[in-house]
Amino acid sequence: MNSIQAIFINILIPFAIAFIFSLIVYNGAKVPSFLFNIVPYLFYALSILIVWVSWHFNRNRFIFVILPLILIHLGFEYLSAAKATQLFLYASVVYPIHLLIFLVLKERGLFSTWGLLKIGFMLLEILGFFYLLNYPNPAIESFMDIKIFAISTYPLKDISVVVGFLVMFIISALVLFNRYLIYNSTFLLILISFYGGFYFLKTPYALDIAFLTIGVMIFILLIRETYRLAFYDELTSMPGRRALIEDMAKLGRKYSLAMVDIDFFKKFNDTYGHDTGDEVLKMVASKLLAVSGGGKAYRYGGEEFTILFPSKDVNESFVHVDILRQNIADTPFTVRNKKKTKKIFINISSGIVQNSSKDKDPFSVMKRADNALYKAKDAGRNKVIKA
Ligand code: GH3
Ligand code: MG
Ligand code: MG
Repeated sequence: MNSIQAIFINILIPFAIAFIFSLIVYNGAKVPSFLFNIVPYLFYALSILIVWVSWHFNRNRFIFVILPLILIHLGFEYLSAAKATQLFLYASVVYPIHLLIFLVLKERGLFSTWGLLKIGFMLLEILGFFYLLNYPNPAIESFMDIKIFAISTYPLKDISVVVGFLVMFIISALVLFNRYLIYNSTFLLILISFYGGFYFLKTPYALDIAFLTIGVMIFILLIRETYRLAFYDELTSMPGRRALIEDMAKLGRKYSLAMVDIDFFKKFNDTYGHDTGDEVLKMVASKLLAVSGGGKAYRYGGEEFTILFPSKDVNESFVHVDILRQNIADTPFTVRNKKKTKKIFINISSGIVQNSSKDKDPFSVMKRADNALYKAKDAGRNKVIKA
């Protein structure tokens, strides 16, 4: 299950966007109307940008999220009133399901088999809408009219409210239990904004603003995602070497730095396989990420890590790294192979240094920490050595 703190942060960002835009709609009377008039153009411009960026970063699901909204918006603009009403009705049922499908489907190339299937699926949806708008189907219409609630959800039909809540329930479960929190939480708020726009259809500009809100949410998500790709390590989800280099440039006058290396990791990989090795790396990373004393851990590369302790001297940080070393050495790791489970123990070694006036830059500090690490290895491993 995802931690409450992580869920909170991930929900907060799209929520804040939705909140600001709903305040604007709520205080619509105070906003000059020419500002509202450009909202649809902003939405179209942002959508084109999203399609372009998603395409470049192979985050194609956003193309499938934003294109239907463009089509719906165009439909409301140019269709006759009767057809627009039908479009409203069908979109309020189909779009949430569409959203869920594209959230759950894995990201693959747009022109791979799966990508083409997705394109085909969306073309089918569009054809279905065209057909239903041009050849109204009384059976489907009366089905859509089924009364379920005692209170009125006008202009939404009861059936769209039921579908909406069902999808919201499923995405909420994904927010709680699925690891793609950054996506799930944003999709939840996309869904809520979509229904908000539809429910307040009669409020001037509400729908335009709701669609723009969704565009902004996706755009911010894309920016956060590219940041994560650049600075975070995929396997361990800890900051990577690029983040380390950036943070080293920000260090103050006094700091200390620890280099950490897993002991006999090659032998571990050879014995239990690379996949189990990856699991061990994740376990060690999660311990390092929780380092005490204000330290921040990075994956330097392979099975080597760096911990920065801003404004701490070498003796202070020694205490915290040694706690880590002991903690990792005491934590059994369960290996399963061929029905047998076995508990094994992993050790780390570390070298710590404090910066001095002789160091030209943080990299020479790192070099000295590396030398101390070698001493820890020579001294028998499972040790922390101060230089
Ligand atoms: P020492 O105690 O001296 O550090 O011995 P070692 O075997 O840990 O040292 P060495 O640096 O020679 O081996 C590092 C090994 O780490 C080699 C490589 O197979 C493994 N390794 C590096 N990156 C990964 C990874 O991402 N996943 C897995 N499973 N193994 C990795
Ligand atoms: Mg190594
Ligand atoms: Mg090693």
